[in-house]
Formats: sequence, C-alpha cells, structure tokens
Amino acid sequence: MARLAQTAGLTDIQEEILATVRTFVDKEIIPHAQTLEHGDTYPADIVEGMKEMGLFGLTIPEEYGGLGESLLTYALVVEQIARGWMSVSGVINTHFIVAHMLKQHGTPEQKQKYLPRMATGEVRGSFSMSEPELGSDVAAIRTRAVRGDSGYTINGQKMWLTNGGTSNLTAVLVKTDEGAEKPHQNLTTFLVEKPEGYGEVLPGLTIPGKIDKMGYKGVDTTEMVFDGFEIAADQVLGGVTGQGFRHMMDGVEVGRVNVAARACGISIRAFELAIEYSQQRRTFGKAIVEHQAIAFKLAEMATKVEAAHLMMVNAARLKDSGQRNDVEAGMAKLIASEYCAEVTQESFRIHGGYGYSKEYEIERLMREAPFLLIGEGTSEIQKTIISRGLLRDYQSRG
Ligand SMILES: Cc1cc2nc3c(=O)[nH]c(=O)nc-3n(C[C@H](O)[C@H](O)[C@H](O)COP(=O)(O)OP(=O)(O)OC[C@H]3O[C@@H](n4cnc5c(N)ncnc54)[C@H](O)[C@@H]3O)c2cc1C
Repeated sequence: MARLAQTAGLTDIQEEILATVRTFVDKEIIPHAQTLEHGDTYPADIVEGMKEMGLFGLTIPEEYGGLGESLLTYALVVEQIARGWMSVSGVINTHFIVAHMLKQHGTPEQKQKYLPRMATGEVRGSFSMSEPELGSDVAAIRTRAVRGDSGYTINGQKMWLTNGGTSNLTAVLVKTDEGAEKPHQNLTTFLVEKPEGYGEVLPGLTIPGKIDKMGYKGVDTTEMVFDGFEIAADQVLGGVTGQGFRHMMDGVEVGRVNVAARACGISIRAFELAIEYSQQRRTFGKAIVEHQAIAFKLAEMATKVEAAHLMMVNAARLKDSGQRNDVEAGMAKLIASEYCAEVTQESFRIHGGYGYSKEYEIERLMREAPFLLIGEGTSEIQKTIISRGLLRDYQSRG
C-alpha cells in the first residue's frame, strides 16, 4: 500500500516491525486465507509464525520477556494482519487484552506467573464478559462466584468467547457478593487456567463446541459453562474483589482501538481489491475505473480509509501517553467499523457479479465487516460512551 494509511512519526523499530509483518501477511496469510476461512480451519501454521516473530509478546514489558512495544505499534500490526485475514488478528486480540489487564492490574505474583509465558505464546489468553442474556449491559452479569473455606465456587454460563477453545487462560468477569449498592461494583475478574480443547476440560468447567458463525471463521468462538467450578482465591485479578468492571473496561478500551485497527485493515484490503479490479474489468469499451461513477467510489473509499486510520492512530497515541481515551477509542471504533461496512460494500459492488463468487476475496470481507459493528460494543454503545464523555467536558453552566 503505497499511499494510504501511512503513519507519521514512527520510530525505526516500529517501521522495522511493520515491514516484517507486512511481508509475513503478503507471503504467509493472504495466499492461504480463503482456503482456511472456507474450511473454518484454525490457522495453526500462521499462529506458529506469529509466535516466532514475537507478536504474542509485542506489548508485554521487556522484563517479562516481551518486546515492550506501545499500543500504537500493536494497532498498526493488527491493521496489517487484518488486511490479510481478520481472523488471525482475532487470535492475538483477546491474548493482548488479557496481557494488558495483567500488566495493569495483576499482583506481582500474577505478572510473574503468566506474562513471561504469555510473551512466548505458551499461555494464550481469552476474555469473557458476555453471557447468553447480556452483552452491552455488562453490569447485569449473573454468573456468580461464592466464597468458601478454600477459595471460590463459580456457577453460570458465559457466551461468545473468542478463542474459548484454543486459549489456556481466560479472564472471566463474574458477580461476587460485595454488598455494594451499584451492580458494577459487585463484579470480579477471575483468571481461569484451563487446558485447550472442548467438552468438560476441568471438573465443573465445560467448553461446548465452536459456535457456527457467518464469518470470522478459523478462529473459534465458544460458550463457557461453570457448574460448581472451584477456583483458588489467588486467581482473583489484582487480589481484590469488586474491581472487575474497572479491569474489563480498561481491557476493552484498548480492545476498541484494536477493533478499529481491524476495521482499517479490512477497508484497506477492500480498497486494494477494488482499485485493482476496476482497472482490469472493461465495460462499454473501457476499464470501469474510467467511468466517473466508479472512480468517485474509489475516491470516497480511500477518504474513508484515511479518516479511520488517522482516528485509530490518534486514539492509540492518546492511550500510550497515559491519558484517558474512552471518547477517542469509541469514536475510532465507531467510524472505522461503520466505514469498513461501507467500503467493503462498495468494493463488492465494483466487483459486479464476481463479488458474489467465493473465488473472490471480497466475498469473505463482506462477511467479516459486520462483526466489527458488534464486537467490543455496538455502535449504539460507542455513541453512549462518546456522548457521556462529551457531557463530562462540556457541562452547561446555565
Ligand atoms: C463473533 C463474536 C465474538 C465475540 N467475542 C467476545 C469475547 O471474546 N468476549 C466477550 O465477552 N464477548 C464477545 N462477544 C460478544 C459481544 O461483545 C456482544 O455480542 C456485544 O457486546 C453485543 O451484545 P449483545 O450481543 O448481547 O447485544 P445486546 O446487548 O442484546 O444488544 C442488542 C441490540 O440492542 C442495542 N442496544 C443495547 N443496549 C442499548 C442501549 N442502552 N441503547 C441503545 N441501543 C442499545 C445494541 O446496540 C444492539 O443493536 C463476541 C460477539 C461475537 C458476535
């Protein structure tokens, strides 16, 4: 990509990482993505390649064996990977969120226990807030942990765990009895270690099979059922109960930048496919790009790619500078995912009938884009976050 989605002010190391990832995407992901996706096959070789490049430890501090890179580096890597195949970015996204939560909120013992092995990809993270009856309304969580003599017992059902079957460490948000008035103050994050796989993986913990999805294939999404599952008290993230909502909101804030980056990656690819196809396909004696209607579509698509990329980069840089970025991450996620749906749709139209054929990549992008409108909070939830943040800063004095 010569011109679009460039980022000013990157360090040499960032440039080097991105160049390596871009080459990996072009050689190891794009040529295999269609076949793997259509077969709903886990991209095991690609994941091994990412481990070798150190991508599982990209943002983990160097003292724990990671590369200690910023959220911006991570987001730009994700943008590249999603340009190749969005599911691959899904494999590292939940891992990254859990590593971030541990880094920010874990006890020294928890950091030492997990982060070095997360950096190598030996421990792979997933995270679980959603339940069958709730996604947006996180504070309404029903899965409950009750304190006993030797730890906690968890009962309940979680839903929509990305990497639920292929991860071995899940950060799970459950209800605990804190006696707090506000529901969100009665939530706690547990670090659930489990074997990879499906079925009853531990006594009282079942991962039913993969949910069959319209897109985002290859990466597994599962339920997680707790039935009298026993867990030690030292598996409470940060060692203190009642803090889970705060932990998870911090996690999804970086997750939103990540979803925005994924949306940018898909949009870039949809644009690349469209500008290539429109110069090859001829109608009425000329390449379709010579029809102004098609050229204007490309101009609009490129403008959307650029705007989304800049907002995503801005949100990442803000978080890296230590500032709160809830509004900017919400805006970036909102605009990047909505634009992604529009850009893929336009690319699909430019492909004419061939866009409907499974032989063409745009068919897959069309099925991937809608997920980004939902994951890490729907557009309505982003607007709620943005407007609340704005009212914080623009409170009327009247
Ligand atoms: C493929 C996939 C992977 C996922 N991976 C994970 C994961 O790894 N971990 C995890 O915890 N979750 C995961 N999720 C769940 C995801 O975060 C939720 O689906 C999402 O937050 C929406 O929640 P919901 O599906 O319960 O929709 P609901 O909350 O039921 O919303 C339904 C509709 O109502 C609207 N709505 C809800 N409340 C309001 C309101 N207050 N004002 C206006 N409109 C509103 C929503 O915008 C939406 O349009 C995943 C989902 C999918 C599809």
